[in-house]
Amino acid sequence: MSDNYRTTVGKVQLVSLTDGHFEPVPTDVFQDSDIETWQSEYSALMIDKDHTQFRFGSVAIYSSSKIVVVDTGAGPNGCLIDDMGAKGVEREDVDFVLITHLHADHTGWTLLEGEPTFPNARYLVPKDDYAYWTQPNVISNAPNIANDVVPLKSLGVIDLIEPKHIITSELTTVHTPGHTPGHTSLAISSNGESGFVLGDVAHSPAQAHYTDWNPNFDVDQELSRETRNQVLDELEEQGILVQAGHFPEPGFGHFSRENNRRYWQGV
Ligand SMILES: [Zn+2]
Repeated sequence: MSDNYRTTVGKVQLVSLTDGHFEPVPTDVFQDSDIETWQSEYSALMIDKDHTQFRFGSVAIYSSSKIVVVDTGAGPNGCLIDDMGAKGVEREDVDFVLITHLHADHTGWTLLEGEPTFPNARYLVPKDDYAYWTQPNVISNAPNIANDVVPLKSLGVIDLIEPKHIITSELTTVHTPGHTPGHTSLAISSNGESGFVLGDVAHSPAQAHYTDWNPNFDVDQELSRETRNQVLDELEEQGILVQAGHFPEPGFGHFSRENNRRYWQGV
């Protein structure tokens, strides 16, 4: 295993984790896009003529003697727990599990045989997402909420967090709504350096340039575009190190600009 799955932001250490991959036809996901653009401009993101690849990524963050895992992958058939083991992240040592939002590809490993997978952790869930996804007409179409999320409440391990929640002095959540109502990213600030865990503000490096391409599973399409444009502008301007869970391994990189076109510069 190469070592590019680790990086630092000031004194904070980050370990990129992967649960698996999903290989859709990109125009099924981004209905504003066309396959010719994918094939001509983003052939590097295509695994064959018709399919791109999304990673189910998580990240372990070591900050101020705490360990925070952001998102828990798609679940039981994935390799997150094995990947953590291979990279030396012990689930018993995790203090906080931050779920950026309550889609099934982010809540997969919250529980293991009915018990918290991270037995000593508080599970931090954006309260606006919990409220949205537990509505009767919504939860009936999202089985992962009843399976992976609601039990965390009965087990007493969930903290429903406000949009701006301070986890450690170096880690603060940022409300980035649109993909889901409570969607949350994470700002890292340590020793004069900055980092940002993107969550699902973007799903593909192609959105660095085509920021208006929304995945069809965004809850609020207009707000999602607005948030993506605003967040990516800021990350580009400030040259902030980004961790993007759905981008190719290891998902660390920067949004940069060349010839009036923004692109993703992965490490
Ligand atoms: Zn996702």
